[in-house]
Order: sequence, then structure tokens, then C-alpha cells
Amino acid sequence: MIHLKTQKFFISLTAIFCSFSINAKSIALSFDDGLNPALNAQAEHINSKILQQLKDQNIQTIVFPSLIKIGDAQGKQLIRSWGINGHTIGNHSAFHQNLNNPNVTAGSYIQSIQMADTAFSDLPHYQRIYRFPFLKEGNTAEKRNAVKSWLHENSYQLGAVSIDASDWFYNRKYLDYLKHGDTAKLERLKQAYITHLLDRANYYDQLAMLTLKRSPQHVLLLHVNAINAAFLTDAVRSFQQHGWDFISAKQALQDPLYQQTSQNLPAGESIIWSIAKTQGNTSLRYPAEDAPYETDNLERFNLD
Ligand SMILES: [Zn+2]
Repeated sequence: MIHLKTQKFFISLTAIFCSFSINAKSIALSFDDGLNPALNAQAEHINSKILQQLKDQNIQTIVFPSLIKIGDAQGKQLIRSWGINGHTIGNHSAFHQNLNNPNVTAGSYIQSIQMADTAFSDLPHYQRIYRFPFLKEGNTAEKRNAVKSWLHENSYQLGAVSIDASDWFYNRKYLDYLKHGDTAKLERLKQAYITHLLDRANYYDQLAMLTLKRSPQHVLLLHVNAINAAFLTDAVRSFQQHGWDFISAKQALQDPLYQQTSQNLPAGESIIWSIAKTQGNTSLRYPAEDAPYETDNLERFNLD
């Protein structure tokens, strides 16, 4: 009798465990751009604070530096420390150009990728994984296809994102409130920022369920910036409380989702957004993320 009860107990435990792992959504973090210590006195502090939090949370990510964003040797040293800490380093081009800009040619754009490759190839854990600046992949089929073919021929993996968000917008607010020493506003901003990130993650996960019929291994787009240096641990804990598991960026990018390429024009945005667009989803806003979309969320937290 006791034996039977014990067996039942283990069977129900297994059932709970299995249903939990099926329902858990997985997410990896990626950080774009990098900082230039010559232009930002806080660069080193921000960089090391983000790295420390990732270490404490045991999360392996990917950073996508752009030469024009990091400046010269000092900025590169900050990126090197990501590699030393075991994070993957990708390529985000030299000049951070918008490929949807009619003045940007495929030829000059490819040169910018090559320049960054030369500059970053000696960094630990550098890999040929490319992230398009602004997630813009070309305003014409010729440009889109020329750059994609070049990346493919040069053994580049695509560093697409599934979850686009506007941390850059909340970072502007953060710096503004910080400058004015408004601690009450900063606390409300933390809540607003985390709510925004969770909202975007859930939105793109639901869009994935509609378009892919599954929840993929997500990749979230963030930047190396002050708001993430301040609030990253709180954001990570909040995601975990809402059923998200953190996985390494390396693992997440193995999802076949990230091998798909945009069929739309203009091309780009989140890969899930892009597939939904190709499938004819008419409810999608463009661009996928922008400052005006955040007005309601700010009001919700009594911020302006
Ligand atoms: Zn960027």
C-alpha cells in the first residue's frame, strides 16, 4: 500500500515536471553597440556592472559591437571583457548604417561588415554572427539579396532577434531622471521598463504561436547602456517569476528560426514579425518598435 502511494507520488511529480518544462518559455539576452569611453565617462562602470550581474545570474549572452559606437582601443577593451567572461562576440558592422536608407549601397555596407570583422577577429569568443543595425535588412530586393548572399558565402550566421524592444527609449528617460536626481521617478521607471520588456516578450511569443505554432528559443534585443546596468537583475528575476527560463545566446541561436531570412520589403525587424508579415498578418505596426508606442506605458506609471 505504502509502495503504491510512493509510486503514485513519483508519477504525479514527473507529470508536474514534464508539464512545467513544456510550458516554460526560454529566452537569451543579446546586447548591441557597446560604449565609447572617450564619449561616455560612465562607459567602464556600465560595462562592468552589466557583466557582473550576468555573472551573478549565471547567464551567457552575445554582444554585437559596432566600431563607430565603441571608438578605438579603449572601447575594444570593454568588448574584450565580454569575451573573457565567456560571452560570445558577434559583428554589428563598422559604421552602423541603416540598409533601408536609399543612400547606403550593398557594396559599402559589405565593406563596413568586413572592417568590423578585421577589428574584432582577435577578440576571445568572436564568431561570424551578424546583426543588422536597426534590424534593417534592405529597402530593395537587390540590396537585401546581395548582403544576404555575401554573409552566406562568408560563413556568417544571422544574429536575428525574436523579441524587439525599446530599451534605448527607456534609457533616455533613465538618464534624464538620473540627471535631475528624481529617485521616485527612477523607481517608477524601473517598473515601467520591466513591464515593457515583459509585454514585448509576451507579444512576440504569442505572435510566434500564431505564425510558427510553437514557442521558439527567444533572443531579446538589449543595448550596453545605463538602464540595463541599473535594472538588469530585477528584469531577469521578473522574467523568471513569469515563467521564462534563461538560456545561453549560443544555444538560442541554434533554433532553426534564426536561419530564416526576411522575404519582405523593406526587409528586417524581429524574425517572428518578419515571418508574420510574409504570411499576410495585417495587424503589425511599422516599424515594430518606436518611441510613440511607449506613451501609454509611461502614463500608466505616472511618468512623462
Ligand atoms: Zn545597433
